[in-house]
Amino acid sequence: MSIVESLRPCAGLRVLVTAGASGIGASIARAFHDAGSQVHVCDIDRAALDRLVVAAPGITGSMADASVATDVDLVFDDVQGTLGGLDVLVNNAGIAGPTGPIEGIDAGEWERTIAVNLNSQYYFARRAVPLLKRSEVPSLIAMGSVAGRLGYAYRTPYASSKWAIVGMTKSLAIELGPQGIRVNAILPGTVEGDRMRGVIAARAAATGVSVDAMREQYLNKISLRRMVTADDVAALALFLCSPAARNLTGQAISVDGNLEYL
Ligand code: NAD
Repeated sequence: MSIVESLRPCAGLRVLVTAGASGIGASIARAFHDAGSQVHVCDIDRAALDRLVVAAPGITGSMADASVATDVDLVFDDVQGTLGGLDVLVNNAGIAGPTGPIEGIDAGEWERTIAVNLNSQYYFARRAVPLLKRSEVPSLIAMGSVAGRLGYAYRTPYASSKWAIVGMTKSLAIELGPQGIRVNAILPGTVEGDRMRGVIAARAAATGVSVDAMREQYLNKISLRRMVTADDVAALALFLCSPAARNLTGQAISVDGNLEYL
């Protein structure tokens, strides 16, 4: 296979994307679908799930809260019917969590952030690994964040959960490498979209500056002075599942225009 051919994502991959009905997960789901993969997504938002399935016929979906183990079990029942096996798990589910000083963070919000961002990746990984062990081209992609490399003032629950994702990625890469399963994390920076608009608005309110000034502050932290897009993240996910990435595992790769600090 030539180098150029090895850069093409494999057609026919069986791919599960968690929280894949909108945002980054939907971009990843559509990218794999366009590349000829069979894609199943799960999400907590029924309306968003219906919109995706209508917009991209062939993609299948399940309603599930990724942080609830019994919901995850039901997703794997569906995956057995729709994909009949699994080559790629994209562990994408994650929420922004609360913004504010540590002494004001409610214990319930802390626990919810850890549950959706970390526990969900464990629930999906433990069910996916037996299927990945039977795949010819197995890959697990964990969605981290640059907050899991830099830390993030006023968003400690989120940053803590995302540092844990890097630890999980490194550990699973060591555990599963001898069986040919590659495990990598993608660490997006600030991604254009509704979620980032909400985070910037919350941060502006918490620190008493205007939303426009806060957006400018965010851009000034990025060497390229622009936010990344969900499609930039999807492109890396496709690359990580291509033959060209066959020797990449245990890596936490940033897509962030070089975010210098948060
Ligand atoms: P988003 O807020 O746009 O949500 C994407 C989807 O997640 C939605 O369809 C939502 O319904 C679903 N979802 C939320 N909670 C869920 C749950 N408990 N179970 C199942 N589905 C659930 O998210 P996004 O911005 O696309 O982020 C996706 C991933 O990328 C997350 O892990 C996030 O932490 C990470 N990330 C995002 C950014 C960013 O700037 N947007 C930056 C770095 C990392």
